[in-house]
Amino acid sequence: MISGSTRLAAVIGDPVRHSLSPAIHNAAFAACDLDWVYVALPVADGDGAKAVEAMRTFAIDGLSVTMPHKTVVAEAADGLTVAAEALGVSNCLFWQDGRLIGDSTDGDGFVASYAAEFGRTLTDRRVMVLGAGGAAKSIIEAVGRCGAAEILVTNRSADKAERAAMLAPQAVVGTHGSAEEAASVDVIINATAVGMAGGPDPDGIPVPVEAIHDGQTVVDIIYQPVRTPLLAAAAERGAATDGGIGMLVHQAALAFERWTGHQAPIAAMIDAVAAFRSR
Ligand code: NAP
Repeated sequence: MISGSTRLAAVIGDPVRHSLSPAIHNAAFAACDLDWVYVALPVADGDGAKAVEAMRTFAIDGLSVTMPHKTVVAEAADGLTVAAEALGVSNCLFWQDGRLIGDSTDGDGFVASYAAEFGRTLTDRRVMVLGAGGAAKSIIEAVGRCGAAEILVTNRSADKAERAAMLAPQAVVGTHGSAEEAASVDVIINATAVGMAGGPDPDGIPVPVEAIHDGQTVVDIIYQPVRTPLLAAAAERGAATDGGIGMLVHQAALAFERWTGHQAPIAAMIDAVAAFRSR
């Protein structure tokens, strides 16, 4: 029941009506019996800073931020977390001592999801990140902070790989498409759009399949489809695998915890994603 004391969180973006976030966060509020509600607010490109001012005016309790507002929101915040500062973008705004702080929870969400799925951290692991876009950069920064031994960054556009590799001291630029390099790492992470339904190459596999072997972990952060061509090939070759729903849920869980101070109900949030997808 919505009342005068109901707290408000929202996601801004353009477009935003397709967002999974309302389903995930409203399920989490319900599971924790919190008097909160989460809505999607379309905010046109160019109006991101105005939306931050509106958050102050309306005393909105929590904000998620998606494309194209992540950079301008980081600029409009009163302060930034380590991740948001390093990346120059923010996907989450929360209140701290009356100040609006911008966080970037994708990378830490990836790290948390990895630990939950595989029961170990990425500390001392040799990691290959495929891609150098927004998601790849957040993963490189967070995996760097959690003490990976090495991060090999490979991307179709080499100049972007160079820039992304600057986000972690142990990151180096690898060779795009090198089977030898892919075979040498413990963990392969696909953060390109290759293999995504409706994307540029839905049937593609962004790394030479013959490189993948038993003992490796392969994570594809794509969540549509759940089982990408990369994950199917990696499982066939004996690697441990995981898809992108874990990262999606764990980045939302970190925002939920920033806003409410409650531990996020991960299982309920995963169920909400499944229910949303089967509609
Ligand atoms: P982005 O910033 O647009 O980056 C796209 C990346 O994919 C770039 O590295 C790009 O290479 C590469 N790429 C695109 N088409 C390619 C092709 N045909 N061949 C080789 N490389 C190609 O996008 P993003 O936001 O980082 O998202 C990347 C993927 O991660 C998407 O599939 C998205 O759904 C997924 N994602 C998942 C989560 C989650 O929570 N699970 C969160 C964010 C994103 P160039 O630099 O050469 O163009």
